[in-house]
Amino acid sequence: MILETFSPQETFEFAKKLGQEAKPGQVICLDGDLGTGKTVFTQGFAAGLGIDGPVNSPTFTIVQIYEDGRLPFYHFDVYRIGDISEMDEIGWEDCFYGEGVTMVEWAVLIPEIIPENAVRIKLEKDLQKGFDYRKITVSEA
Ligand code: ADP
Ligand code: MG
Repeated sequence: MILETFSPQETFEFAKKLGQEAKPGQVICLDGDLGTGKTVFTQGFAAGLGIDGPVNSPTFTIVQIYEDGRLPFYHFDVYRIGDISEMDEIGWEDCFYGEGVTMVEWAVLIPEIIPENAVRIKLEKDLQKGFDYRKITVSEA
């Protein structure tokens, strides 16, 4: 499925709908260059899960866990990961295969541990269509 958005709000609202429909054990991969809207997407998704607080990309840790929504929410941003062993230290399996929902920004950097049934979402710009244009490609497992 391909969706086009023309503002951050539109991306947020689309992700919010997915958050409202999210099921336990779901893993969602988010890929796209810096500034394409992975964190905006994650914020909308978190809102859809009923998470109230601010959701930003974790700066000094790879994962941030939110427990105050409809389901536990594990937000990974692996942009700064050095080695896959860092994921082991975090206990990624308990997140990916647990009862919560996992979102992974920059999932392309850790292909070896992404479950087969993960939902893959790619965000792309196309400056010819405007500065705020984003193409969002969703590939369900
Ligand atoms: P990433 O996490 O992919 O590096 P961010 O979500 O942090 O990107 O930043 C995306 C930036 O692009 C934000 O400043 C946001 O306001 C802007 N933006 C402009 N148009 C859109 C759009 N259609 N969807 C999402 N973000 C957009
Ligand atoms: Mg980000």
